[in-house]
Amino acid sequence: MLNKKCDYHTHPNLTNEPHRADAFIESAINQGFDEICFTDHMPLSISDAGDRIKKGNIEKYCLAVKKKAKEYESKIVIKTGIEVDYHPDFIDEIEYNLNQGEFDLVLGATHFHIPGYNILSSNLNPNEYARISFENSLKAIKSGYFDIIAHLDLQRWVYTLPKRFPMKKGMYDHNSNIDILKKIMIALEETGVKLEINSLAFLHKVSNSDVYPSKDIMNLSYDYNIDYSFGSDAHSADWVGHGYDLISESIYYKKAFSK
Ligand SMILES: [Zn+2]
Ligand SMILES: [Zn+2]
Repeated sequence: MLNKKCDYHTHPNLTNEPHRADAFIESAINQGFDEICFTDHMPLSISDAGDRIKKGNIEKYCLAVKKKAKEYESKIVIKTGIEVDYHPDFIDEIEYNLNQGEFDLVLGATHFHIPGYNILSSNLNPNEYARISFENSLKAIKSGYFDIIAHLDLQRWVYTLPKRFPMKKGMYDHNSNIDILKKIMIALEETGVKLEINSLAFLHKVSNSDVYPSKDIMNLSYDYNIDYSFGSDAHSADWVGHGYDLISESIYYKKAFSK
């Protein structure tokens, strides 16, 4: 998937703010991207944040993306995608929603910070929290609903925001979750679900050099026969494609881009 220059994770908020999409597309074209995928957030009963597709609007969203794809077909490929908050308790709702539209790519994601899904007020330490997050991601990969697993270790973000996410103090240690991470790699290999390299970590100021997933997880992933995708997770046009060149040349990530 990385033999073409693609940004498969962007949030134009198409149905709520339709005027923004052109700037996202122009930005991708100007940076020489071959493909971009719109992946606005699926509506869910536990969250109705303003950047989500509104309930009942999924079909409208898909038609709007396809209209943009047609409009720009001579310049860039625009794919129809959606980002889904995965949790085993939401399966019926996810399945219902996915049946409302036609998607090229479905991203599965574990989000800890949305209302109704927030376990950070509990007294978990970073390793315990990471384990829960990875276990949910493993279930997501095996669920059969998703093409890509997005920002696998997004939970690293919370350690940079101690005021917003009061957690028990401690450092996340990659090796403490190595068993579940190996299971995730095996599941990715067996299912063909792609591991997303997500540059939002730069905006989150998690690190100057490694993004989501961390270089440790990337190193582990190279022991398995898995595929990758790139996503900027842009919520604004100026973030589209952010970090692509830097990451694709990085010693930790370039192996994924040469596959
Ligand atoms: Zn996400
Ligand atoms: Zn996203």
